This record gives sequence, C-alpha cells and structure tokens, in this order.
Amino acid sequence: MADRILVTRSSMPSMEEYLEEVAPLWESHWLTNMGVEHRKLEEGLRDYLGVENVALFTNGHSALECVLEALGLPAGGEVITTPFTFASTTHAIVRKGLTPVFADVRTDDYTIDPESVERLVTPRTCAIVPVHVYGNLCDVDAIQRIADEHGLRVVYDAAHAFGVERDGVSAAAFGDASMFSFHATKVFNTIEGGAVCFRDASLYPVLNQWKNFGITGPEDVEYVGGNAKMNEFCAAMGVCNLRHVDEEIARRARVEARYRERLGGVAGVGLVEPQPGVRANHAYMPVVFGDAFGATRDEVFDALDRAGVGARKYFYPLVSDYACYRSVYSSERTPVARDVASRVLTLPMYADLAIEDVDRICDVVIAVGKEAR
Ligand SMILES: *Cc1c(COP(=O)(O)O)cnc(C)c1O
Repeated sequence: MADRILVTRSSMPSMEEYLEEVAPLWESHWLTNMGVEHRKLEEGLRDYLGVENVALFTNGHSALECVLEALGLPAGGEVITTPFTFASTTHAIVRKGLTPVFADVRTDDYTIDPESVERLVTPRTCAIVPVHVYGNLCDVDAIQRIADEHGLRVVYDAAHAFGVERDGVSAAAFGDASMFSFHATKVFNTIEGGAVCFRDASLYPVLNQWKNFGITGPEDVEYVGGNAKMNEFCAAMGVCNLRHVDEEIARRARVEARYRERLGGVAGVGLVEPQPGVRANHAYMPVVFGDAFGATRDEVFDALDRAGVGARKYFYPLVSDYACYRSVYSSERTPVARDVASRVLTLPMYADLAIEDVDRICDVVIAVGKEAR
C-alpha cells in the first residue's frame, strides 16, 4: 500500500544550510533576546515583505495578542471579526479583555464581508480583525473605508497570507498591523514563530517590551507583559527558509494548477477563483462541495481517509460553535460562514506533493461524487 498522504508537510532547508547558519551560535553563546539571527530575519522580512516595520514573536498567536495589547484598545471594546478562522483569532481578542462580534463572510472567497461588518458597528466598536483566510486577500479597501469612517483600528490575521501581494503591494502593508504565523505548517516557517508588521514605527519598542515581560529599562517594568521572544535557532530556520520561499510558492502553484485541471469542471465542486491583481501563495487547497456534487463533504472526507489521504475539515466547526463560545454566540447569525464550514474540505497541499499523488487524490474525490449521483 502506498504511504499515507498528509494534509501538509513542513518545508526545511538542507541540513548543511541550517548547520552553517547556526554554527556561529557555538561561538557567541547568545541564544535568544534579539540576537544576530533575530536581527537578520527581521531585516530579511522587511526586505521581502516590502514594509518598514516588523517585530518577531515566538508564535503568531502571541504576536496577535501583543499587537492588540500595544494598540491600547479600551477594555471590553467590541472587535468585529470572522468566525471562519482558527481558534487563535478569537482567543486573542477574548484573552486581551475585548469582546468579539462575528460578522459573516463572502461567498466567493470566504473572507469577512464588509457589508456585514458595517451593520455591526456600534459606539463600542474599537477594531476590526479580519482574516486573509487560505491566503485569499480580504476586501482591504472596503474595510479601511469603514475603519476610517468610524475611527476603528484594523489588525489583520495574515497567518495564511505570507507572500501574498496585490498589484505588487504585500498583504503586510494593509491596516494598522498584520500578524503572520511562521508555524511549521505555514508557507514560510521558523518551526514556531510569528511576526507583526505595522504602520506606526513608534510601536516597535512597545511591541518589544510587551513580548519581554513589559521591561522598559534596566531597572523598570512599565507593563504587565508576557514572554513571547523568538529564539536564535528558530530565527536561523527562518533565515534559511526565506532564501527558498519563492521557489516554495512556485512549487505549490504547480500542485494547485493540477488540482484545478482535474477538479475545475466537476459538477458541484467549488474552487476559489484567482483574485484579480493578486499574487497568490497557494497556502491551502480548499474545496467546497455543493449539492450538485452528490456526495457530502463528510463522505468525501471518509473516502479519502480510507484511501490513505488526510484531508482536513478546515474550518469546521465555526469558532462560534466551539464549546467555549457556543453559549454566548449563535452561528445562525453568520449563515454563509456556517454553510461554507459544513461543506469545505482542504486537500493536501505542500511543495513536495507529487503530481501523481494529486491525481490519486482527485481520482478518489471524483469517484465519490460519481457513485453518489
Ligand atoms: C496558524 C494560525 C494562527 C496562529 O499562529 P501560531 O503561529 O500557530 O500561533 C492564527 N490564525 C490563523 C488563521 C492561523 O492559521
């Protein structure tokens, strides 16, 4: 039997390249607290993403918590966000003492629907936290217009959007700030890691203080901060992976092209159309199964599982349906998000995925639909 195909596979540089990068650490013995590799990665990211301001973190979630904290949002303030995301987005808002308010998503790319956002603005709203889900760029212009009109902050969860650009402008450049995750499963990884890109340069020292216990000087601590510093070994992994990220994205594009070729014309199979002017990063391969497909999402999931293919119900359930939120929220108020969550499956997607394996996966998907119709 062929090996099981997992939904993702982490990218790594060659062992030689990584060892060369970390070898000087045995001279310096400087392992964390903004060392040489940390500086090198921040600089590399500023350059790659084409933004002025980047701060690194131990992971994307802490990065999001820190930037919400550093922006000084009012306690209990309402933050309009999407339920069609990973738990992290909502958790960060709640853990910072803010109140999430769930807007619905758009049918074409599953990002937050600006019209739904607009309807939810109240005098207590202080920020919008949209998600560039699957690397699909949100309607950043409409969101900014709403924010400007009502004096709101915009912080993007750009965990999926590394390398995404619109008309040559990086996803990192929109809103007040964007959080990136460099978790092992993302397009660009530092094993665990994350970053905040931000507009206002004066946030840099503040973010660095929040991630280091709120220490503001050798003998002073001004905030009740946490510990979210990226270490040198993770930064070195990022320095190496950054050299290959464009090749990584190009190889993912090949995989996606084959999926589109095989699944594009199949009745009831919904694929996100490429967004005009957007350079995609091919982070995920979401497929939405409509009624015309015949079989349900869960039937496809089970058939793939039996065939040794690990797909993922990503994102299902909606965050608002998690045990920790469902007594307070109802997913009936976000019907589009709820419908997509019940129909979507992300198929295996990574740079090393062989085209023959994509074919094997597509054969299973197509057969399940045919049998059911
Ligand atoms: C991965 C992810 C996060 C969290 O990032 P970590 O680096 O794992 O902490 C947040 N939001 C979304 C949408 C993600 O996919």
